[in-house]
Amino acid sequence: MKDIRIVLLGAPGAGKGTQADFIATEYGCEHISTGDIFRSNLRDKTELGLLAESYMNKGALVPDGVVVDMVRDRLRDIAGGFLMDGFPRTLPQASALEDILRVMEKPLDAVLLLDIDEEVLVKRLTSRRTCRKCGKIWNLAAVESDADCPECGGALYLRDDDAEEVIRNRLDVYCEQTLPLADWYEKKGLLRRVDAVGSPAEVFGRVRMALSR
Ligand code: AMP
Repeated sequence: MKDIRIVLLGAPGAGKGTQADFIATEYGCEHISTGDIFRSNLRDKTELGLLAESYMNKGALVPDGVVVDMVRDRLRDIAGGFLMDGFPRTLPQASALEDILRVMEKPLDAVLLLDIDEEVLVKRLTSRRTCRKCGKIWNLAAVESDADCPECGGALYLRDDDAEEVIRNRLDVYCEQTLPLADWYEKKGLLRRVDAVGSPAEVFGRVRMALSR
């Protein structure tokens, strides 16, 4: 199979992480999540993690230069296809990514936009719990509120940046800074919109269709 190079766009809570896991498994590409890289740096208390923490806790974006350097380093280690989840999030980041990939002679194949209504998102995010041990995300509809991770037994917690006030801020930031990327990629003929309402399997069916076009 040909290596596939994709960017996954969508508001917080649109299901990027879940779809990214499906896509990475099905298409055999590397999953690059800038949010996960920051969270693992935060857990290890690295300099990068400490720098990112104050932005993340407010639901604000980490400065472009920091994120772009981090992604450039990560892309250097990747020989095959990749899927970007949570990057780019601003026009300067998108433009920097285009330059990096041009130099690497690895242009993007597609940009998927997971489309979803804001109120559905707020509900999804406030009922989301993350496992401290394995990082897997669960929804309160699927587990008891005081349960441990059904997979590894780790403690489940509400991410600081999933509190309602922070979520509203993250959604505002998304609308102001990230949504304009949809037009930008549309003009380049790369954008494919996917309806993100439905079960993870239903949405993945639509993702597959969008990628086969
Ligand atoms: P995520 O898990 O993708 O929602 O990311 C969690 C947080 O990490 C975001 O709210 C930002 O504070 C930070 N972050 C992740 N990716 C980026 C990015 N591309 N640019 C700036 N900040 C980011």
